[in-house]
Amino acid sequence: MDEVSTRITQGMEGLTGHGLFNRKIDELLKGPHSQHSLASLPRIATKTVAFAPGLAVHLLEEEAWRDLSEEDEEYLRYTKFLLSLLGNAEHGKIQTHGELMKGLKVASQIAGKNTNAVMFDLMYCALQFYSYYQDEHYSDLFQVVSGIVYTAGERRNYRGFHQHVDHFKVHAAVFLSADYVTRDWHDVVESAALLLEKWGDQLPPESVMIHAAHNLSVRCKALPDSDFAYDLVKSLRSQQRDAAFSENEVFESLNEKIGFVEAFEILKVLWDPMAEKYYAHTKEAVNGIGNPSDTMEYVKRIKFVSPMGIPYIRAGNGACPSNRVVISFPGGSAIGKTCTLIKHGNRRIIVDYGCDTYGKLPKWSPDIDLLDHVLITHAHQDHVGGLLHLYKKHGYNGTWSALAQSRDLIALSLKDSVKIGIEELKDDAPFNETDVKNILSRFEPIQEQVEYNVDDRLSFRAFPAGHIHGSCQYLIKSDLGSLYITGDFNPRKCHSAGPMELPDAAELRDVKAVITEGTYAFSNAEIIDTEKAKKELLDKIAHAESFPVLIPVLSLGRAQEVLSALAGEPYSVGVFGLAKEMTKACGFKYPRNIQFSNRRPRDVQAGDYDILVASAGCLQGGPSKYFYEAFNPIYTILTGFLFPGTLAKDLSDNLDRVRYSAHVTHEDLLSLMEEFGNAKKFLIHYPGTRNIPQSSGFIIPKINVEYEM
Ligand SMILES: [Zn+2]
Ligand SMILES: [Zn+2]
Repeated sequence: MDEVSTRITQGMEGLTGHGLFNRKIDELLKGPHSQHSLASLPRIATKTVAFAPGLAVHLLEEEAWRDLSEEDEEYLRYTKFLLSLLGNAEHGKIQTHGELMKGLKVASQIAGKNTNAVMFDLMYCALQFYSYYQDEHYSDLFQVVSGIVYTAGERRNYRGFHQHVDHFKVHAAVFLSADYVTRDWHDVVESAALLLEKWGDQLPPESVMIHAAHNLSVRCKALPDSDFAYDLVKSLRSQQRDAAFSENEVFESLNEKIGFVEAFEILKVLWDPMAEKYYAHTKEAVNGIGNPSDTMEYVKRIKFVSPMGIPYIRAGNGACPSNRVVISFPGGSAIGKTCTLIKHGNRRIIVDYGCDTYGKLPKWSPDIDLLDHVLITHAHQDHVGGLLHLYKKHGYNGTWSALAQSRDLIALSLKDSVKIGIEELKDDAPFNETDVKNILSRFEPIQEQVEYNVDDRLSFRAFPAGHIHGSCQYLIKSDLGSLYITGDFNPRKCHSAGPMELPDAAELRDVKAVITEGTYAFSNAEIIDTEKAKKELLDKIAHAESFPVLIPVLSLGRAQEVLSALAGEPYSVGVFGLAKEMTKACGFKYPRNIQFSNRRPRDVQAGDYDILVASAGCLQGGPSKYFYEAFNPIYTILTGFLFPGTLAKDLSDNLDRVRYSAHVTHEDLLSLMEEFGNAKKFLIHYPGTRNIPQSSGFIIPKINVEYEM
């Protein structure tokens, strides 16, 4: 075997860890369609082995593969096209689901497959690279691709599509883990769980993990022989199709044999349309019993309870008010879909309901159906972006609160999501302006430092967070002790938000659990304060070789900081895009050199302004991207966090940058935590790829776990 085939063999070995695909390749090479010739491998790989095509082509290309027959070329066209899509995603040329869909349509014509199938092939390809190279870069690529695919399916309303992507990622996680942990099933589960956590995905029930392992022919100690719950759902599904059982009989059987929680999770993967019906059926059955003690008994028997055993029913329905405060994190610990759920007795409130850049939302559970109130810390998408879903898709109809000065900013955030949906999907857009109005009509504004009651045992109070205009932290007080939620915060002085404030010492002593952001926790990134950043920015502009200078900004926070720095300086500054709208909604006054023009970007000439301040901050769209391309080359100064898979991230080596930050530094975070003494400390909102030492005392919460305060 020559070098190419050795590498392919190693690649396959890496992909499976157990030689399954390797054996298949071997069989195929020895089989009737082959003359043991490598020339036949691409075709076999493309046609037969799901995991092989992308990598095979890549390796062949790398080795300057020659002499392919026309027929082989034909087989490879599709795979090559998928590879070019991956390359585009890698280099920031595909960032939105709209851009992805254009490519997928071509791919689907080449292959004669539907776009769903093509999307999964693309994820397979990305997974192969990750698996073969075991490199962070390919891990990012896999996440970016599955993220865009997720959005594409979700946005186009393919029923249950996001469940399929999540399920695919469970297979991927087990597959990648089986590769280097071969001895014990529990090790495989643990390392797959770590990967899923890092990807911001929830851990599925054990039976789904077992199914994934069996499916990949993973062999290891302690792996159960069968995935009973998973198989049960499969067999019920086929029996129901043969009309052997009615829907209600299926539901009863699930309740009897595996219980609600596990059955519901598996239904969402295997038989999505039934999941909602099943929930409705179970809820109705529980509510219909009438007698509180019988209700409780039934609820316990069918396991209609949270991980800590708290029933999914309202007070007065048999659930006795429990004397505990339970905290869970439906959005996990990564930056994106921030959400904290607090249960006190029979009350349930959530703080924040965010949405990540791919449109992923906090994990739904029946608790979300029972919410009493929603608190929002500030208007960034990763904290409010899920409100439209919460109200429209999950049918929440209660009230929500934030500081009064946040209202217009949140309204703009929500309207912007609606606008993007309508631009991309026209009549198929999931939300409209009326939905935003409905949400705003349920808004109850609050003031800093004022105490508001949820009931006579539970209250909350907001404290300024110093992060952006209108941002706050929450002290949630109860008869069982208090908890403190920092939200995103910044204890250092900045121009666009008032200083952070904390409860007084006596109140801090009463705090039993603190939930803090950790954007820079355990990071050695150099973070400079506002004054220094301003000096650096002005210095760079003073030395600019050409004008206009382009400053891409996040529309809320960074935009206002940059404008404060430029206010009154001898430059004319044009503000564009959502950055303009958000700054106006903050109500700040600026001197004349800052101009909020109503001109469209394409009507702007290069000589009109000295400086263009424009969203989006990572050049992923909006006027900043337009200016960057229209006036190219243009001197550009980046100012914010650079998300992987964006144009700005890709160009970051060649563009100038000022490291502004509106988040607490690692050192400041640790000294603040000392104020909370022995309180439990939960760390959320931090990049999952960073290691948090166990000795730090921080709890890194998992999506499926409940924690006692
Ligand atoms: Zn924020
Ligand atoms: Zn945030």
